[in-house]
Amino acid sequence: MRQIAAIHPKAGYSPILLVLVMGLAVLFTSGCQQVAAEPVEAPAIKPAITAAPVELPTEEPALVVPTLPEPTAIPVLSSAVCSPLEGLTLSDVTSIKTNSLKLPSPGKDDGHHGIDYSFWTFRGMDTIEGMGINSVLDGIVAGKVGNRFPYGYMVIIETPLEMLPPGLRSQLESIQPQPVQDMSNSPLSCPAISSTDFSSSGRSLYLLYAHMLEEVKLNPGDQVACGEAIGQVGNSGDSSNAHLHFEARVGPSGFRFTEMAHYLNDSSDTERLNYCAWRISGVFQLVDPQIIIDAGASNSQ
Ligand SMILES: [Zn+2]
Repeated sequence: MRQIAAIHPKAGYSPILLVLVMGLAVLFTSGCQQVAAEPVEAPAIKPAITAAPVELPTEEPALVVPTLPEPTAIPVLSSAVCSPLEGLTLSDVTSIKTNSLKLPSPGKDDGHHGIDYSFWTFRGMDTIEGMGINSVLDGIVAGKVGNRFPYGYMVIIETPLEMLPPGLRSQLESIQPQPVQDMSNSPLSCPAISSTDFSSSGRSLYLLYAHMLEEVKLNPGDQVACGEAIGQVGNSGDSSNAHLHFEARVGPSGFRFTEMAHYLNDSSDTERLNYCAWRISGVFQLVDPQIIIDAGASNSQ
């Protein structure tokens, strides 16, 4: 009871004592506030520490990538497809086709490796002999051969696949290169051919025009345009009547030769090597020339 009465001012206690008691009460309560405030202040310091690592990556954009000039694409102009015979359209030549492609048996030299064009009479003409032969595509002369068996006077013109009209190009690019066949034991007297003999990064279409009337005036490396005159229809080589033998193959780019022959007593190793590489090795893969004629005919309509 005395303790309760001690804090009552009406109980007759002195004002000094009352001030002291109240002062102590203020001290205690303010002390409590200080203690209670401490945990609140501590987390306030943390962000200053955690902020430091964030600054480092912001320095890095020193990755100043030099602005390189845009690569300028080299324009490749695609060739048109022209008729192989002077004065005849692509449709006309298909109407005088006398012999189609007949694929050879693997490793053999049979079949018929191209298309033959000939006629007895056509639009008032009584022979095809002497008719002008034109290049079917833009290209480069890959080789020419004199009057040797079996092609007679002939020329081969190379056109890189990227120069072909888009539809034809994609058709021929789908032809996968084959491994080179081992011909060392071939009954065809073929010299051994190594795949390294024909290594090339690019692929080209090669068109061969055979049994021509006379020696071709062009030389390997010469550029030829679509529709440009390259010779005349003849009856040279393994041919019984005047006709144009038109042959097409896809193979490694840059192949050049000046000799090609076979089945002759006097054929040289180089002539037989080129003949076997061209026809039997698998390096140059046969294509039906009709797809080239058709590609040109559909574009001109
Ligand atoms: Zn033929």
